[in-house]
Amino acid sequence: MARTEAIVLGAGIVGVSVALHLVKRGLAVALIDRGEPGHGTSYGNAGIIEANTLFPAAFPASMKSLIRIALKRAPEANYHASFLGRVMPWLLAFRHNSVPERLIATMRAMRPLFARALAEHETLAAEARAGSYLRHTGWLKLYRSDRGFAATAQERTFAAEFGLPVRTMDVDAALALEPALAPVFRHAVFWEDAASVTNPLALTCAYAARFVMLGGVTVMGDARSLHRVGTRWRVESTQGPIDAEAAVVTLGPWAPDLLDPLGINLPLVVKRGYHRHFATGGNASLARPVLDADNGYCLAPMEQGIRITTGAEFAARDAAPTPVQLNRVLAVARDLFPLGAAVEDNPWIGARPCFADSRPVIGRAPGQPGLWLAYGHGHSGLTLGPATGRLIAEMMTGATPFCDPAPYGAERFASHRRR
Ligand SMILES: Cc1cc2nc3c(=O)[nH]c(=O)nc-3n(C[C@H](O)[C@H](O)[C@H](O)COP(=O)(O)OP(=O)(O)OC[C@H]3O[C@@H](n4cnc5c(N)ncnc54)[C@H](O)[C@@H]3O)c2cc1C
Repeated sequence: MARTEAIVLGAGIVGVSVALHLVKRGLAVALIDRGEPGHGTSYGNAGIIEANTLFPAAFPASMKSLIRIALKRAPEANYHASFLGRVMPWLLAFRHNSVPERLIATMRAMRPLFARALAEHETLAAEARAGSYLRHTGWLKLYRSDRGFAATAQERTFAAEFGLPVRTMDVDAALALEPALAPVFRHAVFWEDAASVTNPLALTCAYAARFVMLGGVTVMGDARSLHRVGTRWRVESTQGPIDAEAAVVTLGPWAPDLLDPLGINLPLVVKRGYHRHFATGGNASLARPVLDADNGYCLAPMEQGIRITTGAEFAARDAAPTPVQLNRVLAVARDLFPLGAAVEDNPWIGARPCFADSRPVIGRAPGQPGLWLAYGHGHSGLTLGPATGRLIAEMMTGATPFCDPAPYGAERFASHRRR
């Protein structure tokens, strides 16, 4: 293989976007995955490019919600009891980061990335001739309770500060947008600037094809074989060893498999999530993703059918699937929208890679010259993949980064590194 300048490890939406941004800047890049691009977590998300995101998902504020989750009655969260001990330090850190002033600080730290997210997708999609997968029809959030709607007030105030168009709607106005919905909700909030994707896998594959067209190389290999040879990094692949002066870890939920043995021990937890596609009853259709906020699931119209996606499940990444949340929400989802038969026999499962401060890690790997990190995008990896690709490519090539990368540095977890 010709001389490689950068190895990108993991071909999800983040890795493909990083590889594409590097190759666009003239680097010789090898993109390594153990399978085909886009088949990890990036395969099964709700397809929402949530550039409007302000507050991240937060630890439940009310005792009532916590008790419902503890009793496994909440649709928005589930857990494996055997996993609670392992995840407890992370949950405590997550709760610590969920007080109002820290949520506001996170919002301000993440805003530059989110603000760039849609424009980066639009550019990459246009260049990859994949614009037809992008839908500019916004995101509709429904609230069945007055309380759920009232809780959005502060976010809507910040939306005005950041110039994000958002419209509150009564039931009739929401039904004018989405006539197939049943009026089982009381309020709606329409985030007009959000975009969505009709097939997340196809979008990632189109970006990967563009990467190859620009001279990048995709190779199968096991990222865990990465090791140092002199001042370079080497990975074993089906085409033999590949080495380069720089390597970027974009393994999403699998990043610790490679990083822990290298002594980079960052506190990543996965929030597992499920999806399943359903046919639509009669001529019913949706023009945009719809969130049933009080029930914690999303209805996302995809090429394969209506994709129902679930909230968070705290369990070991590789434990057997337990899609109880899908079963919990199916009846309420059928009240809201005429779902037909399930398309697949079994639900899909994925694992959102999450840090407790709801920020990804983007930047240099501590103590490992030439190694870079871009993972931990949690609930927003589809949204942030291309903006992340631009940021890290700018950092790696010595260009001026489009935003200050300091909030995303691995150094914020210094106390967790092995000495
Ligand atoms: C149910 C659900 C709904 C979601 N909805 C949204 C949404 O609407 N909008 C949004 O922005 N985000 C959403 N997300 C989050 C988003 O999907 C993730 O943040 C994103 O896909 C993470 O991308 P990634 O590239 O970091 O990881 P991945 O897509 O998981 O990519 C990692 C890659 O690494 C490869 N790999 C792993 N181990 C090895 C190894 N040893 N050797 C070689 N390769 C390896 C895998 O094969 C994989 O291709 C959702 C997530 C879920 C689960």
